[in-house]
Amino acid sequence: MSKIIKDGYNDKECEGNSQKYHTGEKCIELGCNNPAGTAWSPYWCMDCNIKRMDKISKQFEDMVEKFNSK
Ligand SMILES: [Zn+2]
Repeated sequence: MSKIIKDGYNDKECEGNSQKYHTGEKCIELGCNNPAGTAWSPYWCMDCNIKRMDKISKQFEDMVEKFNSK
């Protein structure tokens, strides 16, 4: 479980995750019927966007770690 960033992509109370950003489309994630659109991407719903960004930041951390250990 990653920590919640205030007003960040994983802050469910953040305005960027509010209905204001919903596009009226459904999330592009297969099998997900949530409304798509956050401040971070118009294609994913809030939950899928959080998972997606968690993965990206994890990959980034791994990369930095690798780099620093050289
Ligand atoms: Zn979704």
